[in-house]
Amino acid sequence: MDDTTKPTPPAPRNSIWELTWDASPHLSSTTDSPSDTALPSPLYEVGLHGAYAPTSLSVFEAWTGDRRLNGSPHHGPIFNLGTTVSYTGPRSCPCSTCQATVDPQHRKD
Ligand SMILES: [Zn+2]
Repeated sequence: MDDTTKPTPPAPRNSIWELTWDASPHLSSTTDSPSDTALPSPLYEVGLHGAYAPTSLSVFEAWTGDRRLNGSPHHGPIFNLGTTVSYTGPRSCPCSTCQATVDPQHRKD
């Protein structure tokens, strides 16, 4: 038997895709085109009264309550709606990631 097929070792895939906050959308000009019919392909959801509702990126970025990105809880800085200005007011999420962006006088302790 002359099996010349070289077994190639599987390429290691060590990189784990993690959610990282990418500020680049804030740097480009905002196109204000609300569309309720077409969901954005990353699924942005905001928590409201114990349920989650799909929303647009601009609302998602400005939401002070619970957020989910593609079904996973999302924590991080938020921005004043439609701007690139960081929001530093009170946040409902008590986690350190979210509270880190809150002005000290609004922080939950
Ligand atoms: Zn949080």
